[in-house]
Amino acid sequence: TDEILRVEGLKTRFFTDEGQVNAVDGVDLAIERGDTYGIVGESGSGKSVTARSIIDLIDSPGEITDGEIWYRNREFADAVADDYPDAIDDDQVDLLRIPPSIRRSLRGTHFSMIFQDPQSSFNPSITVGEQIAEAVEVQQRASANPRSTRARSQNYTLTSMALGTVLQSKRYVTSASRERAIELLELVGIPDPVERADEYPHEYSGGMLQRAMIAQALAGEPDILVADEPTTALDVTIQAQILDLLDDLKAETGMTILLITHNLGVVARMCDRVGVMYAGEIVERGTLEDVFDDYVHPYTAGLLGSVPDLEGAGGRLQPISGNVPSLLDHEMGDRCHFADRCPKAMENCLNHPPEYPTSGSDDHAVRCVLAETEYDDEKALPDDYF
Ligand code: SF4
Ligand code: MG
Repeated sequence: TDEILRVEGLKTRFFTDEGQVNAVDGVDLAIERGDTYGIVGESGSGKSVTARSIIDLIDSPGEITDGEIWYRNREFADAVADDYPDAIDDDQVDLLRIPPSIRRSLRGTHFSMIFQDPQSSFNPSITVGEQIAEAVEVQQRASANPRSTRARSQNYTLTSMALGTVLQSKRYVTSASRERAIELLELVGIPDPVERADEYPHEYSGGMLQRAMIAQALAGEPDILVADEPTTALDVTIQAQILDLLDDLKAETGMTILLITHNLGVVARMCDRVGVMYAGEIVERGTLEDVFDDYVHPYTAGLLGSVPDLEGAGGRLQPISGNVPSLLDHEMGDRCHFADRCPKAMENCLNHPPEYPTSGSDDHAVRCVLAETEYDDEKALPDDYF
């Protein structure tokens, strides 16, 4: 195996007036280099917060309070080994044991992110080509001096911080970066990229701007592309085109994709492995086959049962009856997070179940007593128990 990213025991809390919200409550996952890993769940399950925790985009009142995020990259491990020996295990670095400034320097160069709303990635008053060229230059400065993590983080800060003031007055720094920006626009399928490079974001259609955002994300030649609901806002035809594009780019560049979605059809089409998220936990994970064919968790069963045709245009998660539980620490209690919606809840589900490995692939794991115990209706909890 060649795990590029391994997350262990990740906990992200939000400290609010109502109390501590356990948005990510002990997530484990491992992503193989070159794979597409899907995290699927309803809104509010914690899947976006998990992704944002990995690339260090959690702002106050949120905070990562526990866990390890091991990123495998020999060059990066060597660059930080002297200063942070405790964060290193051979060619892996625990991103939670290096300073935030160095973590941030990985964004745009080692990790890139694309979002549902491409508008948020672009400054409306700067041409698309200039903004992509700027991302290219960040990468070039970083790779010109790969051992200097400090230079890297300063570059990043300079470019991300001051889009308004620094960039506004600035044209392309080099013609090489302009050419690379045009190449990238071509790579993501923008017609007439030379002309389109000089247009502003508002002159692009939604699908085209989505492609441009992907071009911008690729400018740093990232190891890992984090895609959070990248096609949710698009109509079905464009959605299919963008997913094809991501697949093609992955094949061409060898990058790894972490895909966040509520759409099981997208998972079935794109992913090698998948984690099903519910109420801050990954309740079942494994290969696509483990989770789609050999699932054990009643929540997974409910999701799949509600999607008659995964390959079709639909594939949206239907709500399972009942509500997502409160993630407030003082309301969570000790029971299985899914207990009050679970048709198979039994007495022993009132103790939070550990994660059980099951018989599928090595990575097939389920957080449910049914992985170990047969359902016994003698022990079933009455429907009105909760
Ligand atoms: Fe249902 Fe019990 Fe499994 Fe939770 S542990 S999902 S309540 S069967
Ligand atoms: Mg989200």
